[in-house]
Amino acid sequence: MDDAKALQFIEEVTENADKVQQTTLAGILSENREVEYLKRFNLDGATDREAFKSKIPVVTYEDILPFIRRIADGDRSPILSSQPISDFVISSGTSGGEGKLIPAVKQDQDIRLLQSVLARAILNRHVKGLDEGKSLHFVFIKPERRTKGGLMVRSVITRLFKVDIKNMPGDAMKASSSPYEAVCCEDIFQSMYTQMLCGLYERELILRVGAVFASGLLRVIRFLQLNWRELTHDIRTGSLDSRVDDQAIRGCMGRVLRAEPELADLLARECEKDNWEGIITRIWPNAKFIETIVTGSMSQYIPTVDYYSGGLPVISAMYVSSECAVGINLDSFCNPSEVSYTFMPQAAYMEFLPLDNPEFSEPVDLVNVEIGKEYELVVTTYNGLYRYRVGDIFRVTGFHNSAPQFRFLARRNVLLSIDSDKTDETTLQGAVERAYKLLDESKVVVVDYTSYADTATIPGHYVIFWELLLKDPDGWPSGEVVEQCCLAMEEAMDSVYRQGRVVGKSIGPLEIRIVERGSFEELMDYAVEKRSATFSQYKTPKCVKLKEMVELLNKRVVAAHFSTALPHWAAEERL
Ligand code: AMP
Repeated sequence: MDDAKALQFIEEVTENADKVQQTTLAGILSENREVEYLKRFNLDGATDREAFKSKIPVVTYEDILPFIRRIADGDRSPILSSQPISDFVISSGTSGGEGKLIPAVKQDQDIRLLQSVLARAILNRHVKGLDEGKSLHFVFIKPERRTKGGLMVRSVITRLFKVDIKNMPGDAMKASSSPYEAVCCEDIFQSMYTQMLCGLYERELILRVGAVFASGLLRVIRFLQLNWRELTHDIRTGSLDSRVDDQAIRGCMGRVLRAEPELADLLARECEKDNWEGIITRIWPNAKFIETIVTGSMSQYIPTVDYYSGGLPVISAMYVSSECAVGINLDSFCNPSEVSYTFMPQAAYMEFLPLDNPEFSEPVDLVNVEIGKEYELVVTTYNGLYRYRVGDIFRVTGFHNSAPQFRFLARRNVLLSIDSDKTDETTLQGAVERAYKLLDESKVVVVDYTSYADTATIPGHYVIFWELLLKDPDGWPSGEVVEQCCLAMEEAMDSVYRQGRVVGKSIGPLEIRIVERGSFEELMDYAVEKRSATFSQYKTPKCVKLKEMVELLNKRVVAAHFSTALPHWAAEERL
């Protein structure tokens, strides 16, 4: 589909959003009329909205887990979807500590590809001439695994590069400065090193720089800070660092490597400066914008991205999850903190649970959401999810034709997130309790705790503030014990967190900051005085986000200790 057709398509489906939604639902239900799940609820082949809503319940992943398990274990009967399930995508959202497995089917893949074609057309409408240059977009795949029943399990990005790319027309990597072999290398260091090296060689051609999420982009900048000497050495001599020993990469890099001492000198001059403000534009002078998601929990990185990019426009192009790909940002160059995604009505059947009372309210249809209200997204898709709560929370900001536009607010129940990790209150509480066990309760107790995602370090890390009450004047825990507490907490985090720590290195070591006695009372005073909390209803927030509250606690820190080892993570875990 060319750009003009894609733009026309967007207009057509958004003008008739409700009709397209009904057709999409009817398509999904008629295709799957024989599946066990729908039969169980006696849908009897009906494809209309009313029957669907009256018979099929709104569910969470936990509700459908028994069906997913059967598929994963090898049951090939049409359980959720009539289409054969080719593999699973694994979500970074977790259930019981494990990544959620979402069945993948062909139509879902087609919908995702179409969404990216539409998003590309929007971008091309805003910036001309992108085809004349290259994109330095850092992407990393993750290790794959097989379920007991033999189905592959991969992340959405891994699937995109290992499976979907084969069905894309032409050379899908043509515009990318990263060789396919580098993207498909599971070793993050080797992949990042090679992608960076290629991006440096092609510095003049690069028109956009990015990574999927802003956290990833900042890691890449940090990587450059740590490795620019080796990288410029390679450019000066036309060689490839021996730490990159992946044979596929070494094979393809022969085409790229050449000795360019002048380029190496120029890059080294920029990198050796203490001040890295605007480094992206200094190294890639023709970059017109940064392409990375800075909405939702990633908005915490906007100031740092601005610092390194010298204020280039930042584009969050799409809202995509393992469950569905529904949102496109039609206004690419809007202020990053004002991004709204228009939900494409052909991409899934969508309903919205009003946030004011999610347990008791009926979900409303796509076209019936109200501006200013907040909702949780509920989707019905070709890959066998029926009225499934995705867990993402949005606020309606407007309409494009009759399709609503949504600002991504947060993930339901998520307190802490650095990269793709999403730690909720229950997990945090469990982690803190595990750490308490290492303290000598007869001598010291933790009076209160809260947490904070510290993104001033790259990669960011979790900080847990503790206030201790000494029962025994000699009860102060040693630094070593607090370090063990840090590690114990990390061990209690879910597999996505631990994989981020161990394999992806996208999360730094957890830190405990012990604050002086009375700090949490002062936090409460602050909330009551300044934030109009009431004494009787006040509960210590289990995560502090407000700058003033973080500062209040930071000023009272008497000791700080980091985890000194990596938590356990094994490849057979669910991500
Ligand atoms: P995964 O299922 O692991 O691919 O992660 C998808 C999740 O990432 C979504 O459910 C969101 O919570 C988050 N996410 C995806 N796209 C965006 C976006 N544009 N802005 C903010 N968060 C996003």
